[in-house]
Amino acid sequence: MTRTQNKKVRLPAGMKKKMFGYMAAFIAIVLAVLWLFQIVLLDDIYIGTVKAEAAGVARSVALATKHGADDLTTKVYDLAAGHATCISVFEIRDGIGRELVSAHSQNLCLIHSAMNEGLIGRVYSAARESGSFAENIKGPENENGNIITAKLLTREDCDILVLVNTPLASVDATVQTLHFQLIFISFILLIIAAAMAYIIAGRVTRPVAAMNREAKKLAEGNYDVNFEGGEFLETAELGRTLNYAAGELSKLDTMQKELISNISHDLRTPLTMISGYSEVMRDIPGEMTAENMQIIIDETKRLSSLVSDLLDLSRLTGGKRELKKSIFSLTECVRQTLSRYSHLVERDGYTITFESDTEVFVEADEILILQVIYNLVSNAINYTGEDRRVHISETVKNGVCRISVSDTGEGIPKEKLPHIWDRYYRTGDFHRRAVSGTGLGLSIVKNALILHHAPFGVSSTVGIGSTFWFELPVYAKDSLR
Ligand code: ADP
Repeated sequence: MTRTQNKKVRLPAGMKKKMFGYMAAFIAIVLAVLWLFQIVLLDDIYIGTVKAEAAGVARSVALATKHGADDLTTKVYDLAAGHATCISVFEIRDGIGRELVSAHSQNLCLIHSAMNEGLIGRVYSAARESGSFAENIKGPENENGNIITAKLLTREDCDILVLVNTPLASVDATVQTLHFQLIFISFILLIIAAAMAYIIAGRVTRPVAAMNREAKKLAEGNYDVNFEGGEFLETAELGRTLNYAAGELSKLDTMQKELISNISHDLRTPLTMISGYSEVMRDIPGEMTAENMQIIIDETKRLSSLVSDLLDLSRLTGGKRELKKSIFSLTECVRQTLSRYSHLVERDGYTITFESDTEVFVEADEILILQVIYNLVSNAINYTGEDRRVHISETVKNGVCRISVSDTGEGIPKEKLPHIWDRYYRTGDFHRRAVSGTGLGLSIVKNALILHHAPFGVSSTVGIGSTFWFELPVYAKDSLR
């Protein structure tokens, strides 16, 4: 056993547990904020609010006094009643105060109590320094205190002092109620969090767990899987992607199995021929003929071309093949390829025609272009119709040469057209062929032309035939050095 096998892999916590943890943390933060504001800071917030309200009342009274409002008394009484405060307005001339208006609406008020003399004097001198005054002063009857707010208006001949008294209520009972409520709320929230974590995690984990089960099946080589993504966009997308990946894997698997069976078939035929003929030549006197030797040589060539096809494709698709460009005659290239099929023309009655107006030179990788033409022509021969006709044309337009290879075969159905360039793809009956094929030919063509950045394509009509084409820029003769 290796060290890594011995090491125990620590699995992370499950989604339900984690989600409950996150929710509990969120609730704890919410409760802490509530506790801070509703219990710890409640007193300060309450006093602050009362102070702000009292200051507003004092300002309103001062404004009314400043503008010498006729209805000052009514205004002061309304404000006192509306804000549950007591208000007194004094005119202070030469150190002697005279009460202008007084609205006494609160029993616990300090400015209308016996202690007002000293208090008013203290507030007046503090207000003279800063223009206003706001303080919480505890009274004998109200130990929660009173907010005394003052506003001083300085005139040429006298000062106007506005005094507002707001008694504070006790917040202890409120704090206690809130305390109890918070405990109760925490408890309810924790139960809700647990329930929600269970439900949400269940909904999220269900498709993930189901997909995990399917993925395990896929890993074991079972392609009959269905990844159900559930109700969330992300998991649904993951499901779709996995289904697509499973489909592609299954296709690749089938194609590879087919390839092995095709290659085995294509390898076995020449090998049987070679061994058969060799044995005959060894055992039967007089059979050591040039024809028999030729058969062995031809079959060996077939084998070697099959092996080189496989090698070529693996180099081309593996990015190991670099272009070795040279200037050569494309026309000659086609002629050379056609000469390889002369025995088919003579023996099997194929008619292979080549139409070219002029000799065309191109700058490209000659070996790869030869392979492209060879593969297209051998496909055309393999798939052409009963009349056994194949036509190759070379046309030049706007400095671009197009090679087209046409046959009169069954053609390729539209839905299969995009796949024919794939590795190992074969539309069907591959035994009925004049030249051996592996399902790699068009893939080699595609990769070689892509490497050249050369346009290529196919047009095919079912029942009439197919035309495969590619284009290369013409190497102008006058630029030939
Ligand atoms: P193969 O060795 O099977 O010919 P290719 O990669 O060359 O492999 O071609 C892939 C598939 O494309 C073929 O199996 C065939 O179905 C289709 N195909 C290629 N050329 C032609 C053609 N000229 N006419 C009809 N079908 C073709």
